[in-house]
Amino acid sequence: MAVPKRKHSNARTGSRRAHDFKKPATLVSCPECSKNIPPHVVCPNCGSYMGRRIVNQEG
Ligand SMILES: [Zn+2]
Repeated sequence: MAVPKRKHSNARTGSRRAHDFKKPATLVSCPECSKNIPPHVVCPNCGSYMGRRIVNQEG
């Protein structure tokens, strides 16, 4: 069975693991109600998108 000739450096191990962990979700502030929402989605709080009301919601 093939065996690695050299030990991987700590930097190489860290570089490999750089993609292994889930990053916190990106949130932006809704311009209408200033609630934190994911980008590029209709606001679940006030139903607005691109400065317009897309979904009719009371309140
Ligand atoms: Zn909103």
